[in-house]
Amino acid sequence: MQIVIIGNSIGAVSAIREIRKWDQQSSITVISREVLDQKTPYYSPVVLPYYIEGVLSKENLFSIRYEFYKSMNVDLKLGERVIAVEPDEKVVVTEKSRYRYDKLLIASGASPRILDIPGARNKRVYVLRTYEDAEKIKSDESDEVVIIGGGPVGVESAIALLKSKKKLTIIEIAPYILSTVFSRRVSEMIESQLVEKGIEILKDEEPIEITGNPVKSVKTNKRKIKCSSVIMGVGVVPNTDFVKDVLKLGPRNGIIVDEKMQTSEPDIYACGDCVELKSAIDGSIRPFPVWPNAQETGKVAGANIVGQEMIYEGGIRVNALNVFEKVYFSIGNVHDESKLGKMIERDGILEFYYFEGEKLIGAEIIGDVKYVGLIKHLIRRNIRIDLDRFKGLSDFFPFTAPLSIPHKAQERVHLWS
Ligand SMILES: Cc1cc2nc3c(=O)[nH]c(=O)nc-3n(C[C@H](O)[C@H](O)[C@H](O)COP(=O)(O)OP(=O)(O)OC[C@H]3O[C@@H](n4cnc5c(N)ncnc54)[C@H](O)[C@@H]3O)c2cc1C
Repeated sequence: MQIVIIGNSIGAVSAIREIRKWDQQSSITVISREVLDQKTPYYSPVVLPYYIEGVLSKENLFSIRYEFYKSMNVDLKLGERVIAVEPDEKVVVTEKSRYRYDKLLIASGASPRILDIPGARNKRVYVLRTYEDAEKIKSDESDEVVIIGGGPVGVESAIALLKSKKKLTIIEIAPYILSTVFSRRVSEMIESQLVEKGIEILKDEEPIEITGNPVKSVKTNKRKIKCSSVIMGVGVVPNTDFVKDVLKLGPRNGIIVDEKMQTSEPDIYACGDCVELKSAIDGSIRPFPVWPNAQETGKVAGANIVGQEMIYEGGIRVNALNVFEKVYFSIGNVHDESKLGKMIERDGILEFYYFEGEKLIGAEIIGDVKYVGLIKHLIRRNIRIDLDRFKGLSDFFPFTAPLSIPHKAQERVHLWS
């Protein structure tokens, strides 16, 4: 069988690992548009901020080497952009060639959204998604940087640039930063840490124009902020243009997949940030553009491609953010204050649990990440919890020590590869 995979990030790698568990015979061709060194063809976007900060070397950023692809017997086509898929012919078309497939996996991820405002594509307006983006931000010598968007990418970019003593301003359109990830309460804890380090945060404010080419200022609905570069971190859009006429897409342009990661075409599978799938919590169909979902859906797609039935039990948003040695972890639905069922403070760890009746729907934990798997399991399996007797998850495992995301950048690379 000829298996073709579009993309070479965590969704793809996770699928390759699963495919080769069951099938040594099929050919696997991976096509990726990024031009990278063939000897070090993989990095995780998650750790790019550490590279910008300078705590992760270029050598250590590229965490999976050519030997991996060789051992998995993968034919790697780097620097080739896919421009179309022809399901009737079972062919993938790139700018350079055509590849026949029996089974196709689309793991093309997502790209940064660009705001539709004047100046958004001017010189020194950066985004952060790829190694090339990180290099541009790292080598920029501006003293004053405006970061548009106070989401995880905006906040991590600001933290990464702190050491370089630049004047940093984050503009956030919502009433509080990280509003898609944390509750207002937790977001404000993070905000006070950032402000203490000198980052200016403007909330409830909308950027309306970037002036100068190269950049000179950002105009908002309230003021004009002088700066010489901008980082735009306002969410992502799925990379699905090349299949928009042949596969069923959802309202946010993600590829619609079933629980086996099969698309509307039976021999085409998709995984990761380019898909929209069912939420494990409320059944709504939407993207879950986070690393653990890309890793899990890649594995499910890989298994089903080689005929090993595996089911994905539904998307759950999971985010962990390291803010100066403190880890903030959030999972599921944490935005409805009225659903906050329990708050526990113990041994320096702060836990917030959100419930719908007896069902856990979300949690925020400050200082510990070891319960990620357990919370996911409780949410997905609809396990009933007696709120009166519930004393937090550490009650189930009283002897385990708190677990944080490792502080050393190098250890984090292993976590996210
Ligand atoms: C700075 C940053 C920090 C992040 N931090 C976190 C975090 O803390 N926690 C978390 O869970 N997630 C985080 N994420 C998100 C995480 O990186 C993504 O969810 C994950 O990388 C998605 O993996 P993927 O395989 O679906 O796609 P991607 O990583 O987007 O990779 C897509 C691949 O497809 C290729 N491709 C795209 N289009 C084409 C085409 N037309 N032809 C050929 N190849 C193509 C690309 O070159 C790439 O190889 C972060 C992202 C960034 C940028």
